[in-house]
Amino acid sequence: MPIYEYESLIPEEGCKMCFRGFEHIQTISSPALTNCPGCGLPVRRIISRCHGAISEASPEHQQVEARIAHYEREGMWSHAAELADKHSERIKDPGLKTRALDDYKKAGYSIDTLEKHAKSIEE
Ligand SMILES: [Zn+2]
Repeated sequence: MPIYEYESLIPEEGCKMCFRGFEHIQTISSPALTNCPGCGLPVRRIISRCHGAISEASPEHQQVEARIAHYEREGMWSHAAELADKHSERIKDPGLKTRALDDYKKAGYSIDTLEKHAKSIEE
């Protein structure tokens, strides 16, 4: 079954589930949700970022890759790390995430601190 992605029309009033958008698995034939199952506020379906939809060949991905590589060449590790980190979240690429962590290390960040930081954001 496909995964559909929804976003809240009034995210500032949304619940934990919808304020940043959420994914919903449903059959192709079932109607789109119009309200958040969590809080009932209106939501709309957005185009699903099918995992891997942004392929290596996409111009956007190549552009970001090129910028990361540029930062790395220039030794701007924290810039490279942040960009790789952000982009890896978007395209769900664990390889890029590893690269980001690597760049963070080179930038002098401690990975322990980063992981704690990441956890504190999730909570
Ligand atoms: Zn909600």
